[in-house]
Amino acid sequence: MALKYSSKINKIRSFAFWLIFLGIGVMYIGLLFKDTMWLMATLMILGMGFVGLSTVVYFWIGMLSTKTVQIVCPSCEKPTKMLGRVDACMHCDQPLTMDKTLEGKEFDEKYNKKRYSKQEAQNQQ
Ligand SMILES: [Zn+2]
Repeated sequence: MALKYSSKINKIRSFAFWLIFLGIGVMYIGLLFKDTMWLMATLMILGMGFVGLSTVVYFWIGMLSTKTVQIVCPSCEKPTKMLGRVDACMHCDQPLTMDKTLEGKEFDEKYNKKRYSKQEAQNQQ
């Protein structure tokens, strides 16, 4: 099970995984109410809605995966994928930041520009 991991991609993936179960569960409950047509229909549509939403989330993960950066975790030394400038390791939950790529570099005027300071503000949330 991927649930013990908490990197962003893994969180979204397990969310999509449970949405499918929820959808199937709701549809199954719908079958128990087959004598009450409107209730069965409502639960069936709701269940299909959850499964459909899960498909959308899986598609979204695919889109996000193209934006990840593959790095080697400094803590457990396994390759992991990062989403955005701050994320957690997929294997050991080690918090990771892209900012270390700025370490050792001389101060550059461009870090003062609006785009960079905006990214800094996001990191502090
Ligand atoms: Zn790690």
